[in-house]
Amino acid sequence: MYELMVEDTFAAAHQLVGYQGPCENLHGHTFRVQVFLIGEELKKEGFLVDFKQIKTELREIIKEFDHHNLNELEVFKKQNPTSENIARTVYERMKKKLPVSKVTIWESPTSAATYYEGKSEIINPKSEQGMV
Ligand SMILES: [Zn+2]
Repeated sequence: MYELMVEDTFAAAHQLVGYQGPCENLHGHTFRVQVFLIGEELKKEGFLVDFKQIKTELREIIKEFDHHNLNELEVFKKQNPTSENIARTVYERMKKKLPVSKVTIWESPTSAATYYEGKSEIINPKSEQGMV
């Protein structure tokens, strides 16, 4: 199995509506985006997907977020622009173009959210311990 990863960044403002804490106020991050692709078969040239193509598609997707207030974008009108929701949005848009396996959004050097399809350990916000 081969895995590729391409990284890019964008600067944006956001605020988390309904969050009790400092993140409720408008603030900014330089978000780091990592897009992963997996596959078993290489093209005859010896690569899975051309890095250049992944970079171009990723840039096209995050161009909409760069230097914007994420809360004002249509996609985040009904959901908070958390790193989780940004990761899923990038994943869904990338999936239309390339066989993406997961997307990770870093909102600081120590905090990241990853979205991928499938189930593993599920955190259930309705259960008391938070874990099922
Ligand atoms: Zn934030």
